[in-house]
Amino acid sequence: MSITNLEAVKRELEAKRQEILEGMARARALGQVEGETGAPDIADRAAFALQREFSFSLTENEGKLLKLIDEALVRLANGKYGLCVHCGQPIEAARLAAVPWARHCLSCQELQDRGEL
Ligand SMILES: [Zn+2]
Repeated sequence: MSITNLEAVKRELEAKRQEILEGMARARALGQVEGETGAPDIADRAAFALQREFSFSLTENEGKLLKLIDEALVRLANGKYGLCVHCGQPIEAARLAAVPWARHCLSCQELQDRGEL
């Protein structure tokens, strides 16, 4: 992969990272506002609780994605970007284009999806 491509990937990863951090900050702020104002009746409280649960699970998924992005940035820095972390083979270009933080090549990803990795 050329240096120019790597720089573009780095910018893309950093932009996505920033986007997630901002989203998490918003979800946290939302949780705090709910906690402070409280909800006037039971039905509202239930709706708030549901929404809070949703934003927490969103944050959890985003936390995982953030970790994947950070790992991809480390691989970029040490020249291992684009190589499968399991078998060391280059990850398919189309897969990297779709998922720039991918850790596994397609065949290793299939193994992992089946719980065999
Ligand atoms: Zn692999």
